[in-house]
Amino acid sequence: MNYVSTRNNKINVTAATAIASGISAEGGLFVPETIPSLTENDFAELKNMSYVERAAYILKYYLTDFTNDEIEYCVKGAYCGSFDNDQPAPITKLGQNINILELWHGPTCAFKDLALQLLPYLLTTSAKKVNQGKQTVILVATSGDTGKAALEGFKDVENTKIIVFYPCDGVSPMQKLQMDTQKGNNVFVCSIKGNFDDAQTGVKQIFTNNVIKETLEKSNMNFSSANSINWGRLVPQIIYYISAYCDLLKNGENLENGFNVVVPTGNFGNILAAYYAKQMGVPINKLICASNSNNVLTDFINSGTYDRNRKFFTTISPSMDILISSNLERMLYELCENDSETVAKLQNDLAKTGKFTVDENVHNKFKNIFYGGFCSEQETLDAIKNTFEKYGYLIDTHTAVAVSVYNKYLAESGDNKPVVIASTASPYKFANDVLSAIENNVSGNEFEKLEILSNKTNTDIPLPIKNLKNAQVRFQNISEKEDMPKVVLEFLGI
Ligand SMILES: *Cc1c(COP(=O)(O)O)cnc(C)c1O
Repeated sequence: MNYVSTRNNKINVTAATAIASGISAEGGLFVPETIPSLTENDFAELKNMSYVERAAYILKYYLTDFTNDEIEYCVKGAYCGSFDNDQPAPITKLGQNINILELWHGPTCAFKDLALQLLPYLLTTSAKKVNQGKQTVILVATSGDTGKAALEGFKDVENTKIIVFYPCDGVSPMQKLQMDTQKGNNVFVCSIKGNFDDAQTGVKQIFTNNVIKETLEKSNMNFSSANSINWGRLVPQIIYYISAYCDLLKNGENLENGFNVVVPTGNFGNILAAYYAKQMGVPINKLICASNSNNVLTDFINSGTYDRNRKFFTTISPSMDILISSNLERMLYELCENDSETVAKLQNDLAKTGKFTVDENVHNKFKNIFYGGFCSEQETLDAIKNTFEKYGYLIDTHTAVAVSVYNKYLAESGDNKPVVIASTASPYKFANDVLSAIENNVSGNEFEKLEILSNKTNTDIPLPIKNLKNAQVRFQNISEKEDMPKVVLEFLGI
């Protein structure tokens, strides 16, 4: 299985090259040449496996240049010992039809851990194959959760260095504290004056800046990405959708007519992984793309025009405050039937004018596969409150966006097939807003609120969050977005 660039499908590389480089030189994203499909027999086998076994089974289809031993080493390193009860993606059932896929049992309490615990293994294994001896420098732009998850995944990993940029006013206090207290000898954290899109654009510019690239090469280093533009971030996410299907089968759910999947969406990585799972044979019916007030994807799915020229909102679901959803490019490639010229043109339009429009045929395909919806801040809070009152189950602000949009979909369509809702963060990561949803006028600092939330809802504070209280702050850097290249070179000492 090889990988091609979304902007030039003549560029054809191995999985190791795709993962080691992160992004294709001309700016395109790597996608599998063909999406493998699983048979009934595969699912019958997968059904009785543990998560780690399922992961290895699925990765073998995508990483054909890795040996079986390498794959085993990667998945065991990633998923044994770092998730609660060694269950990275358990399902909790609410009522008859709703299955919450809890993706926040890892070291940083958000779904990014599922990919970012595995990525360092995939990346160092890939780097050994394709650029022997070179040090890999990981650059990350984060709206909060990726940064911390990447730092945890890469801290003290041999032959790597990692630099994380986050928008100074765009992350929650807990997210900020999680990053600023990061341990490890190869890590650097810096906030920038700007929003997430500024951070992401800045990182992309550094990646494609030839002068900086040459400077790194002279020092025997090269860049890679831990953002979901890296294929190594996406492939681990396909696993949990397949695993969720296997668990539903195991639970004896009636899946005769398939099931729906709801994903609170920002960069379009998570929902794209669900699409790949669907293409591989998981009987997913509708993919419900849930947005907050930054509803650029809702408008795109409804109109066929993607237009980022709009007001940017800072919301209580900050990991979804994004106006440029990078992974939509991979979806466009799929729905334009591998026509990389068209994709390149659309991305060029986006870079030049901030918008693009797909043709009617492609738009219709989008509408068939996806439902796009969004909810307001108040609706997000209502979803937390209602879910808690109805089921005694606490959800975070991002999951709440998914629940709220699912309810709109249900009301509009009457489609009450079983549903899997991706729950992307622990409510304790956003305790302030979660608590305000279920109780008026609570005062206290962040950590007092954790205790109040825990007592009130009879749930435990995850240890990685509880322990932040006494963690030492190591990073307090603020930079102008224009200075990002300087920050990188200074940290690297070159
Ligand atoms: C990153 C993130 C999202 C958005 O996921 P994408 O893959 O970027 O669409 C949603 N919720 C949480 C909690 C996140 O951290």
